[in-house]
Amino acid sequence: MSEIWNNTVLVFRGKKRVTDRERFRLLAVFMGITHLILTGIGLLLPCLPLFFISGFAAAAEFLMLHAGKEKESYFPGISLIYFLTCIHALASCVFLGWTFGFSLYNLVIIPVLFYMIYMTKGISDPRRYAMIYTAANCVGTLFLRRYVYLGKPRYSYGTETAFWVSFFNNTVCFLFVMTFSMLFILELTANREELNQQNRELKRLASYDELTRLRNRRSMLDCWKDITRSDYCVVMGDIDDFKKINDTYGHETGDEVLKLVSFSMKEAVDREDFVSRWGGEEFLMIVFGSVAYALKVIDKVQRELKQADLSVDGKQISVTMTFGISECGEVPGKDVDELIRRADRRLYIGKKSGKNCIKIKDE
Ligand code: GH3
Ligand code: MG
Ligand code: MG
Repeated sequence: MSEIWNNTVLVFRGKKRVTDRERFRLLAVFMGITHLILTGIGLLLPCLPLFFISGFAAAAEFLMLHAGKEKESYFPGISLIYFLTCIHALASCVFLGWTFGFSLYNLVIIPVLFYMIYMTKGISDPRRYAMIYTAANCVGTLFLRRYVYLGKPRYSYGTETAFWVSFFNNTVCFLFVMTFSMLFILELTANREELNQQNRELKRLASYDELTRLRNRRSMLDCWKDITRSDYCVVMGDIDDFKKINDTYGHETGDEVLKLVSFSMKEAVDREDFVSRWGGEEFLMIVFGSVAYALKVIDKVQRELKQADLSVDGKQISVTMTFGISECGEVPGKDVDELIRRADRRLYIGKKSGKNCIKIKDE
């Protein structure tokens, strides 16, 4: 019971989508109870045809509730409840006349049908079924309306009786439409929230590198577009002899080294700076400040790498990096490509001149 209550609260907060089973059960219970009450009304009036058709409809709906437990597809059940409701309402009009409010069911069941078959999974071409079912209902109702108006109802009761039965039917129909419309809105809200969450996750996956949790190249270039300041340096760093680390200690250890380097960089920079995994074992940072600040950041990284306790089979792995730095002010018009090219060129010069060093000029 508490589970049903908790689920209901979640649904009403728009946090949870109703499952196909819950939606179908709600429809079956709603119509089952309505038809059960009408069975009682049929007995009280007394109007035996109303008693029998309502009893039959209620029994079928409660039975479907049971069958719904094992069934995966709820479409036959939805169709059956829809036609049971329509036929029950039309037959009641024939027996009791138009004033008892039974024809309302033929109207209110239409939006509920649309909601049910559009939301329930596994129904191919719901639009076609919605149209055919609605058309059948319309044609049946309009034909019968003429028939009922021309003829006299089979059973005749006073206006007070007609008022109370019609009062019941009106109330049920209002409740029916309100409940299912509310559910429809709540489901749409939950659906939208689910999609937003998926979009956020997709964006995160598209922007961040899975292994190091650093921004990837594309996301870094996107960030760059929003930078209005010009007091920053571009730092390109590359792990020295990384291939050797992979070959000697295995790819997994190589991955650990990449994580260690990423962690060291994230720790070394300020909150406003950016760090990205530019390529395999290449990293690009945007650090806000002068070259002196960039050198301080790199120094922190190098110290962290030196102190890191990374060993395989008792052998300490030494991780060093080579860096190239370019400063925004040295390139006219803050040309991003040129800034990257310069940092990369200096990194290459550093590699050529023995690695494990920092180059801030093209020499
Ligand atoms: P240098 O000092 O000149 O930079 O030499 P290097 O060996 O570091 O550079 P090289 O370009 O020869 O090799 C880079 C290696 O990085 C090759 C590639 O297999 C490895 N690599 C790239 N991405 C990953 C990764 O995600 N995980 C691991 N373990 N290795 C990677
Ligand atoms: Mg390398
Ligand atoms: Mg490289």
